[in-house]
Amino acid sequence: MASLHDLKNLADDLPGRGTRMPAFFIGHGSPMNGIEDNAFSRSWADLGRTLPEPAAVLCISAHWLTDGTHVTAMEQPRTIHDFYGFPQELFNVRYPAPGSPALARETAAAITRTKVGLDHEWGLDHGTWSVVKQMYPEARIPVLQLSIDYAKPASYHYGLAEELGVLRNKGVLIIGSGNMVHNLRMLNWRQPESGYDWAEEMNAKFKTMIEARQDDKLLDYHQLGPSAKLAIPTPDHYFPLMYALGLRGPSESVAFFNDHLSMGSVSMTSVKIF
Ligand code: ZN
Repeated sequence: MASLHDLKNLADDLPGRGTRMPAFFIGHGSPMNGIEDNAFSRSWADLGRTLPEPAAVLCISAHWLTDGTHVTAMEQPRTIHDFYGFPQELFNVRYPAPGSPALARETAAAITRTKVGLDHEWGLDHGTWSVVKQMYPEARIPVLQLSIDYAKPASYHYGLAEELGVLRNKGVLIIGSGNMVHNLRMLNWRQPESGYDWAEEMNAKFKTMIEARQDDKLLDYHQLGPSAKLAIPTPDHYFPLMYALGLRGPSESVAFFNDHLSMGSVSMTSVKIF
C-alpha cells in the first residue's frame, strides 16, 4: 500500500490539509495563453498564489481523447506540443512538473464504473500545461491527466467526476480544461474580444443553467437548440465542464471568472466549485 501512504504523507505536509480543495472548469482558449501575459494568464497565476497549495493537480483536458479512460502514471510526464502554426517560442516550452504514479493508482482505484488504464505514453498536453504552468511556474507540484473516453456520453463523464470527488479531500486540485463555447471553424481573428450573438447567448445560458443546477439540461446538450449546436459542434471542449459539474457537492457554490468571449466563437468563461 505504498501508493496510498505516499500520497497521504504528501497531503500531511500541506498547510491547508484537511480542507477540501475547490474544483474548476477552466476555459483555456489559445495555446498562447500559456506564454502570454494577459488577463487570462494573470487570473490563472492569481489562482496559484491564492489557493491552498495542492498535493497534486489532476487535469481533464479537452486534448486527450481516448478509447477507454486512462490516467497518466509516469514519474516525469513530457510536455506535448499538440498544435501547429504558432511561434517557435511556444514549441520551446517545457513544463517539467513531476507525475505521481501513486496518485495515478489512487485515481484508478477511486473509479468503480470502469477500469482506468495507467498510461505511460501521454504526458501534459497544452490543455493542461498552458493553464497549470501559469498557476505554478515552479513546476514542483505533481500534475496528472485523466483522459476523456470520447465514445461515452456526457453522463458517463459526470458520473466519473462524482467518484473523483474523494480526491479533493486529499489535497488534489481537479481541473476540467476546455471551453464551454468552442467552434474553431467559425473563429474570427478580427473579433479578438467579443463573440457572435449565438456564442453570447449560449455563454449566458450555460451560466444560468450551471448556477441553477440544471445539470440534467447541461448533460442533454443536444436538446438545447441551434445555438448550442454552433457552440458545441463536437463535445471535446465541453466534456471537461461535465467533470466540474459532477464534482460539485450538494451544498457547494459556483463562481464564474474570465467571463469573456474570444475570437467570435470561443468562450473563456470558467467556473470555480467550492
Ligand atoms: Zn483547446
